[in-house]
Amino acid sequence: MDKRLAQIASRGLTLPEPTRLEIRKTGIFSRATVEPVYQDQAKRWALRGEEAGGAVASLGHYTGFCGPTGEALPWTQRVQNFMPNGIHAIVIEPELCRVQMFRYEHTYDVLITRHWLPEAGGRRPQMQSEVLFFHRAGTLNTELWGKDSDFRGGAAPRFFKRNGDEQLPPEAFIDVLMRVTEGVCCIGCKHTHLLELGETRVRQEALATA
Ligand SMILES: [Zn+2]
Repeated sequence: MDKRLAQIASRGLTLPEPTRLEIRKTGIFSRATVEPVYQDQAKRWALRGEEAGGAVASLGHYTGFCGPTGEALPWTQRVQNFMPNGIHAIVIEPELCRVQMFRYEHTYDVLITRHWLPEAGGRRPQMQSEVLFFHRAGTLNTELWGKDSDFRGGAAPRFFKRNGDEQLPPEAFIDVLMRVTEGVCCIGCKHTHLLELGETRVRQEALATA
């Protein structure tokens, strides 16, 4: 993996300064940071990510998380903000996939990365990252944030290679792509589009240790 791609894999999509300024003006907040944290109770290192973002009519930015094979993960903590388009939930897992998307009008950039921690004998491990799907300037003509909102959750942008062939995402992530597309078209977002209700697992763990 070249250096630029390695950087994108660990830090997320790089957006030009004017784009970042424009996003900030809209009040949409979405940070792609994934970092190792030590969990005292479980006595393990795990990865922490924030599911965040949303949309205004002209643009959207969303970062969400799922498991290594595209399966839904439960959130560790729900975050409810008075302000929309901010942090929705926190996830802490030993291994996860980050799905980040940026939309301007009908044009979409997407990055799907996998992150995990190698065994480091109790010391702080160095996070490993790989790119699973990365494409810029995908298109979807449907206006999911407006007149075509009925199609939300069932549509994703299409990405094309330089030669015009379609670049298909890994099959296991098609559903995830549709959900994150929903996130970048969700005006005033106050939901998690990828992470799911975390309660069940917490309760199961409590029962298991009772
Ligand atoms: Zn939403």
